Amino acid sequence: MTLAFDHSYARDLPGTFLRVAPDVAPAPRLLVLNRSLADQLGLSLTDAQAADWFSGASLPPGADPIAQAYAGHQFGGFSPQLGDGRAHLLGEIVTPQGRFDIQLKGSGRTPFSRGGDGKAAIGPMLREYLISEFMAAIGVPTTRSLAVVATGEEIWRETRLPGAVLARVAASHLRVGTFQFFAARGDQANVRRLADYAIARHYPDLAQADNPYLALLDAVIARQSRLIAEWMGAGFIHGVMNTDNMAISGETIDYGPCAFMESYAPGTVFSSIDHQGRYAYANQPLVLGWNLARLAETLVPLLDPDQTRAVDLANDRLTGIAGRYHTEWLAAMRRKLGFVGEDDSDGAIANDLLTAMEGADWTLTFRRLADETALRPLFDDFTRMEVWLPRWRVRAGDGAARRIAQANPAVIPRNHKVEEALAAATEGNMTPFHALLAAIQQPFTEAEPFMLPAPTGFGRYVTFCGT
Ligand code: AMP
Ligand code: MG
Repeated sequence: MTLAFDHSYARDLPGTFLRVAPDVAPAPRLLVLNRSLADQLGLSLTDAQAADWFSGASLPPGADPIAQAYAGHQFGGFSPQLGDGRAHLLGEIVTPQGRFDIQLKGSGRTPFSRGGDGKAAIGPMLREYLISEFMAAIGVPTTRSLAVVATGEEIWRETRLPGAVLARVAASHLRVGTFQFFAARGDQANVRRLADYAIARHYPDLAQADNPYLALLDAVIARQSRLIAEWMGAGFIHGVMNTDNMAISGETIDYGPCAFMESYAPGTVFSSIDHQGRYAYANQPLVLGWNLARLAETLVPLLDPDQTRAVDLANDRLTGIAGRYHTEWLAAMRRKLGFVGEDDSDGAIANDLLTAMEGADWTLTFRRLADETALRPLFDDFTRMEVWLPRWRVRAGDGAARRIAQANPAVIPRNHKVEEALAAATEGNMTPFHALLAAIQQPFTEAEPFMLPAPTGFGRYVTFCGT
């Protein structure tokens, strides 16, 4: 078959990317192919085609690979030039569900690579595959993973590791940092072109709005507020919420040192480089506002010819983020708590649970709310829960057990299971990976070995960016 690639980004946004080909993988070996995603996208490919096309061994017909430019605030400091340092956008495919980017990651150096080797190891690429597919399975907006192909090359990260390329599918790769790249250079023409492109691609209805650029800001605020609320509900910690890792589409993007919290502690941080806890679990809603303020700054020149008024308009929207996020968070918590409708006491009930459950397993506590016998062993001290549970029962009412089971996954990618699967894959054994993948793709089905928290000997979990 051929992939019917289109290249709207390259066509509409000249000067925002560089044409560069992926490296040729010497001995591609398909590790995992997402057949169901391929089917949804209307791609019927053979394993051999997937291995060649998604490793860079050969280019699919019609591909026209580019590396996109972007900037970004990394841990609060501005880097004016980041860009795809190890990724190649092959092109876009247009499906009944919309237009999607097909991008290779780990596919070689580009002019944006700076000191990096442009490569990726098997472990981190399989990790992105697992976690993004889990996010999709629980309904959190995310880029998807189409395939991981071992390249047959060894790369150097502290030790020698087998290299791999991930093929991912995204609504687009427009980032807050894409806008920042041009705004920082005073290139208003390209900021406007990007905004027009983002509206046409992601929010076409807004083209008719009185002020389309303000409407774009509103729309990104809405999608990102919902996204972060979903992360919080899932116990997901992204780990590098830099502005270059925040997508205009509202999808979760760039899975690096991310992980799921096991015992609930608001200050949880997994990333080895996040010394200040900037991207700790409970800080994610604050970073949401901070990052969206960086997007708003790039749009100010477009919001109103009177720049004082433009700043007021942007500030007004930014002030609203906390309230909007709270509304989304409350909606997510109502679902997790099995509540029907809305009650004024819902926020207090949710917050009181958080106080009572500190130290208990995030995922299983919600999953077992309706089963006190199973819930108790999750807690060292159940005293606060004794007070809280009757309140919850009254509010949740009939059918709560069923709603709880539908809203709260039984299986998440537990850190020790992920590590076990990736370590085996790095040694050439894909069996644990496929078993874990099968379990996290059916996350609402109880599967005992994948549900249990890490054994105490697993210790504190640390993730690395050296992806
Ligand atoms: P990340 O923190 O993974 O989102 O990456 C931040 C920036 O570093 C992006 O511009 C990446 O393209 C770049 N980058 C990360 N790893 C590598 C690598 N191995 N080689 C070249 N560039 C890289
Ligand atoms: Mg990134």
